[in-house]
Amino acid sequence: PRLANQIAAGEVVERPASVVKELLENSLDAGATKIELDIEKGGHKRIRLRDNGAGIVKDELELALSRHATSKIATLNDLDRILSLGFRGEALASISSVSRLVLTSKPVAQEQAWQACCEGREMSVVVSPAAHPDGTTIDVADLFYNTPARRKFLRTEKTEFQHIEDVVKRIALSHPHVTCVLRHNGKPVKRFPGVSQDNYPQRIAAVVGQRFIDNAVYIAIEHQGMKIQAWLGNENAMRSSTDCQFSFVNGRGMRDKLILHAIRQAYESVLGVLEQPSFVFYFDIDPYEVDVNVHPAKHEVRFQQSRLVHDFICKAVCDALAPEHS
Ligand code: ADP
Ligand code: MG
Repeated sequence: PRLANQIAAGEVVERPASVVKELLENSLDAGATKIELDIEKGGHKRIRLRDNGAGIVKDELELALSRHATSKIATLNDLDRILSLGFRGEALASISSVSRLVLTSKPVAQEQAWQACCEGREMSVVVSPAAHPDGTTIDVADLFYNTPARRKFLRTEKTEFQHIEDVVKRIALSHPHVTCVLRHNGKPVKRFPGVSQDNYPQRIAAVVGQRFIDNAVYIAIEHQGMKIQAWLGNENAMRSSTDCQFSFVNGRGMRDKLILHAIRQAYESVLGVLEQPSFVFYFDIDPYEVDVNVHPAKHEVRFQQSRLVHDFICKAVCDALAPEHS
């Protein structure tokens, strides 16, 4: 099973940031409202996440580390089903097959915390008592220590950490009520205090900057089952850069080409050529309008009616940037 897990890991675990993404999503699924991440050496040496979520009961620790063991099939939302059913229940098994993973957890209703790790040549799961507050800690050390080919593809500590930071920002922007703390090599890097569920401006200010939100053009519009809520940087708001292009489809961070294209086209037609507009863009659509045929780890979707989506977004952004023209 270890080899099968390592093969699966090749799909899911591309780099430290992909581990961080899987762990963060698990914490959110477990209802965590506070998540702390400690990263060492760009995540190559260590990724440790602690949350205050529901926890994992002792008897399910071993299961959580085995392949295709998911507690979630019944609770997945539609978009999850469409995007990632094939990848469900593989993340922890995959990650633990290419790292030294220790899982420690204490559900509120359980008196004692327990810890699980894989040991020996067979990598059998060993469970032992531990000390831990309510919630879960996942400690992932020495990522790719046993897969040199993967390790070779890692970039510098700085680059890998930037990818991690990007993942954390995306999660923070899509879950304003969750407190997120990020440290690197023992130093605090980001701290996003949880705000009320729908206080996006405050969260965006924390993640992207007060200056961005103060100068942003706001859009809220709904049309034919599609909905946009977005903040657009205007031309003099800030130095344009891809660092500030955040799009979300049905609450999930996506680096979607079609959305980016539609936004850029709108900027171009209103303001003239602009290299990289900055935006925080929430787009909602019926999940069944989203195509299944895309790799979930790539954060991409395909819209069935792509023309319609593109034109809706492009027009909405045009109208917002140049209200006098419409
Ligand atoms: P999936 O998330 O697709 O179910 P994973 O391999 O990511 O698969 O996780 C396996 C299982 O471990 C989850 O179904 C969940 O029951 C449990 N789990 C993982 N992380 C956490 C966490 N932070 N808090 C509570 N339960 C968790
Ligand atoms: Mg998961």
